[in-house]
Amino acid sequence: MSSTLAMNKVAILGAGTMGAGIAQVSALAGFSVCLFDIDASIALQGRDRIEQMLAKGVSKGKVSLEDKEATLARIRLSTELANAVDAADLVIEAVPERLLLKQEVFRDVEACVDPASLLASNTSSLSITEIARFLERPERFLGLHFFNPPAVMKLLEIVEGEKSSLQSLAHARDFALKIGKDPIVVKDSPGFASSRLGLVLGLEAMRMCEEGVASAQDIDKAMKLGYRHPMGPLELTDLVGLDVRLAIAKHLAAELDDRRFTPPKLLESLVAQGKLGKKSGEGFYRWVDGKPVPKS
Ligand code: NAD
Repeated sequence: MSSTLAMNKVAILGAGTMGAGIAQVSALAGFSVCLFDIDASIALQGRDRIEQMLAKGVSKGKVSLEDKEATLARIRLSTELANAVDAADLVIEAVPERLLLKQEVFRDVEACVDPASLLASNTSSLSITEIARFLERPERFLGLHFFNPPAVMKLLEIVEGEKSSLQSLAHARDFALKIGKDPIVVKDSPGFASSRLGLVLGLEAMRMCEEGVASAQDIDKAMKLGYRHPMGPLELTDLVGLDVRLAIAKHLAAELDDRRFTPPKLLESLVAQGKLGKKSGEGFYRWVDGKPVPKS
């Protein structure tokens, strides 16, 4: 089915790691973007990160100076939900990985957004059907799961909830192609196609670290040089955020009733210490000038 919805305006809810990146790719592709956060200073930091990423693109010759300026000019910030989703054709939520929070956010969104708008969650693992449970029009809701960093990663996982319509899926596919992504469509199953597999590797690498099988950097090296992974599972965990991976592991352990997903003590302990990975400056590595440095 092809899409007929003319999409121009995108509202992104949550200006953290993912929200800012999704705003960047959407605006770079020509969409008019509103980036919303409950915290004005985080929204501003999100915009700064977008500016830095675009500046990096310019210095590498991947983005022209004109495109950088035009992209920034297409992004506005908001801390008022009704204002943020006003006239939005697509709303993408990227708030923390908590079901009740996401349900609440979409209840508020539905009260003020155009009835024809497409609504999507960037959840990594939660059920799309459950997030949509209290919506009056769940047929226009689905998952749009981006990967970190959204400006670089080609994959977009489109997650089909029990009530998502074929038309919504077609709109989502159109949007994916317009922003230069390569989409896959996945059924609403815990962890979808990506997080479920990726987490098995990440959690096992943490358990190996705990057991002293090898250092974090050597475990990562094994996967990079031995399996041609562009990045090891522990460095990837630092990039994703240890708190984010912990939330996903807890959810999958409960949903799949499977010990494979029980969070390792090391992960719980690092999160309790506020060592969340790149965003806090330390996780399985220390992060200096945006680069991972092995912990001795
Ligand atoms: P984050 O903690 O970096 O950002 C979340 C942002 O949401 C924060 O800026 C916070 O202020 C804001 N927020 C909190 N409550 C809000 C509300 N009610 N309305 C609007 N904003 C609110 O988290 P993140 O890593 O960007 O993850 C966001 C979502 O994306 C999660 O569902 C996560 O599972 C998913 N995800 C994360 C990654 C990753 O690599 N980090 C990858 C794919 C998907």
